[in-house]
Amino acid sequence: MSLQVSADTHSATILIVDDTPINLRVIVESLEGQGYRIVVATRGEEALKRADYVQPDLILLDVMMPDLNGFEICRRLKAQPCTRDIPVIFMTSLASVDDKVTGFSAGAIDYVTKPLHVEEVRARVNTHLNLRRTQQELERRTEQLTAANEELEAFAYSVSHDLRAPLRAINGFTQILTERCGASLPPEGIECLDKVQWASKRMDVLIQDLLTYARTGMGSVRAVPVPLLPLIQQLECMFGERLGRTGAHFQVSQPLATPLGDPTLIEQILGNLLDNALKYRRRDAVPELALSASALGEQVLIQLADNGIGMPLEYQQKIFQVFQRLHHDHEYPGTGIGLAIVAKAARAMGGEVTVESSPGQGSTFSVRLPAAPATEHG
Ligand code: ADP
Repeated sequence: MSLQVSADTHSATILIVDDTPINLRVIVESLEGQGYRIVVATRGEEALKRADYVQPDLILLDVMMPDLNGFEICRRLKAQPCTRDIPVIFMTSLASVDDKVTGFSAGAIDYVTKPLHVEEVRARVNTHLNLRRTQQELERRTEQLTAANEELEAFAYSVSHDLRAPLRAINGFTQILTERCGASLPPEGIECLDKVQWASKRMDVLIQDLLTYARTGMGSVRAVPVPLLPLIQQLECMFGERLGRTGAHFQVSQPLATPLGDPTLIEQILGNLLDNALKYRRRDAVPELALSASALGEQVLIQLADNGIGMPLEYQQKIFQVFQRLHHDHEYPGTGIGLAIVAKAARAMGGEVTVESSPGQGSTFSVRLPAAPATEHG
């Protein structure tokens, strides 16, 4: 997406706050010559009122004002929602570092020193007006994108939801047909009915997975410390039958660092990864699964390694997109949505997921999430 912002200085309004006539004349003339609209205030209180009323695009503010100190004016501008976002440039003859720091901490974006050089003032004003326009344009586009995204997700959700009712009818009536009229149908007819039922069940699973995908991260996402051990114990219990049937060794390295996130989403991520690690196992080896969670600066790195079938490098990005699968359904059943849910859930918590894998040897999935403030070990 290219973002073009024109340097249209003519429509910009600048509020100049200064009580020294000589200064005022120099800057007003110079900026008016550039096509800016100029509004002047020679008192602090007046400056606050004008800023509120005129809503200028930029404020040039003298530090030494007779009634209110310039830093205080700036602080008050920044405390008001309607003037908070207007960039403020200080005009100061106080060249000490302390004053610059005070100015910036009061919310100023830049400063120019007195005696003023009109070329410098013009250059800084132009730069900050352009920056502000770019920022406003970006904010507007982000808002539009967010709204479009939300609309699309709500649409996907309601379509998926509504599709389930006719599907249930197809499934139900085929079942009735098989039960009541099965005896009078030729074997070919029974086979066709079986296929209709199989296809409608598969479609139901797909819709359910799509619904889960659409719902993931919808609404409020919590950001709380999530101790991983109890969550993993719960998953071990849920996957107990499959772990037992496959003879898998599931090793959890302790201590486990604590991420900051939404417990439901983290459980969904780990559940999907564990499900895949068991599904995509090698037929000739006992599944070896290793889970760890370590603190890496401000993040927690959760890794699940398996010794399964692995995958070629060219697929390692694609598998996180919806419907991307590397196998036929009869070989390894699935819908190709599980990892898209994992990626979306990680993103919703400000994290990400990646994979490293070699065909025939295994895969390691890495989930990076923000760390809980004082990373506890659970
Ligand atoms: P599904 O398992 O329903 O196909 P996923 O989105 O969970 O959907 O996975 C997408 C694809 O990524 C899978 O079809 C599979 O080819 C590959 N994959 C996922 N996890 C693993 C794994 N642990 N080992 C090897 N391949 C995997």
